[in-house]
Amino acid sequence: MADQDFPTGTLMAGKRGLIMGVANKNSIAWAIARQLAAQGAELAFTFQGEALARRVRPLAESIGSDILVECDVTNDDTMDNTFATLKDKWGKIDFLVHAIAFAGKDQLAGSFIDNTTREGFKSALDISAYSFVDAGRRAAAMMNDGGAMVTLTYLGSERVIPNYNVMGVAKAALEASTRYMAADLGPRGIRVNAISAGPIKTLAAAGIGSGRHMFRFNKAAAAMRDNTDPMGVAGAALYLLSDLGLSCTGETHHVDGGFHAIGMPAEDAMTEASGG
Ligand code: NAP
Repeated sequence: MADQDFPTGTLMAGKRGLIMGVANKNSIAWAIARQLAAQGAELAFTFQGEALARRVRPLAESIGSDILVECDVTNDDTMDNTFATLKDKWGKIDFLVHAIAFAGKDQLAGSFIDNTTREGFKSALDISAYSFVDAGRRAAAMMNDGGAMVTLTYLGSERVIPNYNVMGVAKAALEASTRYMAADLGPRGIRVNAISAGPIKTLAAAGIGSGRHMFRFNKAAAAMRDNTDPMGVAGAALYLLSDLGLSCTGETHHVDGGFHAIGMPAEDAMTEASGG
């Protein structure tokens, strides 16, 4: 992550929201949390397991948050407890950040058609797509008119990316869910959007085969000839979650240095991408 401060201001002053998906300081959700806090938001966090609590607690405290709830999105009891805790502490919320995905390592390498199992498919779709629908429904029940939600997706939903496999299918379901949720919640003034980020070095990204090739190719082939800066993703989240994003809903917004816009990389980019 760029070693610079997030722009401060009051765009999120008076707004409270839940951040799901901080594993450590490299998590995309953490960049988003820092940016929202720098604009005055009050935040609550979920974590999974005591090991992560040890990492997430100091991060949350560093931006003045003391609401930290254990939540496994596949477990209804922990989901119930998360939103009951928020209801108890705050009564209502203004926004939700969903930055959660998972697929078994065996599903994220080699042939999609040969390596995707029924269980692997179900769990990837459950954790990476259904969890947004579930969390979104619970969050909306605690929102007044004018709330906003954001989830994180990746280009592997639209195009074939080697080894991304079932996660690409899960991201396609997540983006479609975003549109359906936007339609359901639009009449209440609640906006639902997805940010399609380029590859960023995080724990989740480390689970995908041929990671080094992915970063080198993205850097060479992107319009901006660079990898994605988490600060850019955080800036997009700020826009979508604040009143700046008024009238924007059901959108999948690419923040990837323009990689998605390139049909065929230039010749010198191909040489660079192959390490030549
Ligand atoms: P990350 O730091 O590893 O965050 C992923 C988070 O998902 C972790 O906090 C993880 O917790 C959580 N998670 C997984 N299974 C869960 C479950 N059953 N219940 C609750 N939480 C669970 O990686 P990240 O890259 O920032 O990922 C955040 C989002 O951005 C993901 O949706 C990812 O697909 C998306 N994204 C990432 C990239 C990239 O290149 N990094 C690009 C585009 C989109 P545990 O560690 O405990 O499993």
